[in-house]
Amino acid sequence: MPGITDLQVNGFKGVDFQRDDISPAELCLAAMGLRQTGCSSFLATLITAPFQTILHRLRHLKALRASDPFLREMIAGWHVEGPFLSDKPGYHGAHDPSFMEDPSPAKIRALRKAGGDLPMLLTLAPERRGAEASIREATRLGMGVSLGHTQATTGQIERAMDAGATGFTHLGNGCPQSWDRHDNILWRVLEQPGLRVGLIPDAIHVSPALFRILHRVIDPSRFWYVTDAMAAAGMAPGRYPLAGAELEVGRDQVVRKPGSELFAGSALTPLDGVWRAAWMLGSTWQETWPRFSTQPAEWMALSNSLRPGAPRPVLVREEK
Ligand SMILES: [Zn+2]
Repeated sequence: MPGITDLQVNGFKGVDFQRDDISPAELCLAAMGLRQTGCSSFLATLITAPFQTILHRLRHLKALRASDPFLREMIAGWHVEGPFLSDKPGYHGAHDPSFMEDPSPAKIRALRKAGGDLPMLLTLAPERRGAEASIREATRLGMGVSLGHTQATTGQIERAMDAGATGFTHLGNGCPQSWDRHDNILWRVLEQPGLRVGLIPDAIHVSPALFRILHRVIDPSRFWYVTDAMAAAGMAPGRYPLAGAELEVGRDQVVRKPGSELFAGSALTPLDGVWRAAWMLGSTWQETWPRFSTQPAEWMALSNSLRPGAPRPVLVREEK
């Protein structure tokens, strides 16, 4: 199979990408951990922080990538998720709402400059002031725009799509635990056949029943599975000091604060995502695989097909 392309990786193997001083060795350790669990390329993901900090981290990651051939192979580009998100309770998720702000075309140009020419995906909430002009600017600069951590109205979603937004980030997450049964962000997104929908296929962030229903309502060729993995991904169950707090990795590969039931992040590995999706759908892993490899790669215009003469990591699974 062609390798997995994960468009949302916040960290792996104990290495948190949300740091100012990540070292080349740490970034290689995370990339190697991803490689060993089926991933052949990923978008290093930066979440909400003060905007200048995001720019600094992006420039730093870009320099590290440029200095190492393995990192150049593994890191296909960047996913910037924040700070242009909804700061409303339930919608901001694990992001710090105090760092959130409105987007502007100038800020989009600053992100583009910091990330260089590499593929870049931006997740934003289209109800923020300036979103439409910013989406237009991002699209003009070749960035992909996905909506997420949002409570946008149908009109706001449609205007964002007219401006160039083509995706929705981790549907079923970044939204409140309970909401209006008549009108909520899930129903509004399900009405839009044109969006490419991101899902975390760990059987926990989206329940198996909802996961199956989404695959009936949305054309499965429009999914892009992600791990949304944070630093604890790829680690054995246990407690770890991460991002300034102690976090616990459960046997279900979900990260929680010790003693809490609330999710603090995903510790899913890419290969497990493929198996769990197939298990939830009662399908073969060959069916779920493209939603985690060729489909996201095609959307972000990444090379992930097998072509004569082009080096490409492949995975071989031995059937017993
Ligand atoms: Zn998110």
